[in-house]
Amino acid sequence: MRALVTRPGVANSVRLVDVNEPAGDGAVLAQTLAVGVCGTDIEIIDGHYGWAPPGRQELILGHESIARVISAPEGSGLSAGDLIAGIVRRPDPVPCPYCAIGEWDMCSNGRYTERGIKQRDGYGAEQIRIEPEFAVRVDPALGVLGVLLEPTSVVAKAWDHAERIGHRSRAWHPRVALVTGAGPIGLLAALLGRQRGLEVHVYDRVTSGPKPDLARSIGARYHGGDIAVLGDLRPDVIIECTGATPVIADVVTRSGASGIVCLAGVSSGGHTINLDLGVVNARMVLENDAVFGSVNANRSHYDLAAAALAAADHAWLARLITRRVPLTGFRDALARQPDDVKVIIQFAHAA
Ligand code: BGC
Repeated sequence: MRALVTRPGVANSVRLVDVNEPAGDGAVLAQTLAVGVCGTDIEIIDGHYGWAPPGRQELILGHESIARVISAPEGSGLSAGDLIAGIVRRPDPVPCPYCAIGEWDMCSNGRYTERGIKQRDGYGAEQIRIEPEFAVRVDPALGVLGVLLEPTSVVAKAWDHAERIGHRSRAWHPRVALVTGAGPIGLLAALLGRQRGLEVHVYDRVTSGPKPDLARSIGARYHGGDIAVLGDLRPDVIIECTGATPVIADVVTRSGASGIVCLAGVSSGGHTINLDLGVVNARMVLENDAVFGSVNANRSHYDLAAAALAAADHAWLARLITRRVPLTGFRDALARQPDDVKVIIQFAHAA
């Protein structure tokens, strides 16, 4: 069977190979329908990120997945035909106090592993294996759209933590949210904000292409161009998904009093700007603002994400996937195009 592999640290080493065994370990065997491509995959294939499994030089790619169960052990809660998405992270072996209670997304010693990213083969193979407790059942009505579960889990965690912080005051009742970045993560964060009944603003530098309309279709207000276009908007919650330095510099002082800013985009570094940290500090202290980082997701967030996707307009979710590329055309999928939102590599058909 075929698998998409790359040599972490070596740019442009991605290739399609024949492998003898399904990718990964676990009692559940599944046929991959599709994997999503995200910024992390591009970082890995560009040689800037990613780690091969111990003793190997190549890593099977793919951490956003949707697969159909071929066989699963009795009592696992899964059966042949079920659609599943795989959880990305596995707890560290120590385990740290967080991993010990299933909160591997908060791992404190960095020894966690991640499928398709860090020391574990991903889901980008025609057949995969997975442990039942790391497979999340997806609403069959979603079909291949279930590939959006993993990115949705990331924003489900961001919202969950923002809300936990908000509840430090019993008077906290957010009304306005801002999401910066209208890629898949940003648009899914906006969707979850709308599902909470909030007035949601989406900012992205683009002013054309599919993003403005995608944001408006879920009832969000879209702001394109320079970040200054946001004027004096002071949201209660900001989910920052661009990782872009000027946007981060703006959002850390943009929230209203007792505001909460979640930084969910990873920056590449090397983009310096002048920022008066004293002003940032005074604003944050005097307004009880909170700025926090968020990465990855644990099982509870995947469950929240599965519920959010099941409740979403499936036609809108389908529009998020702007290109579906067959496995043999994987190079096209990995080359970014200006109007891309989510690109997926299709291994087999859902029907
Ligand atoms: C994935 C996360 C992962 C992070 C860092 C992201 O693209 O969605 O699951 O923890 O990369 O490796």
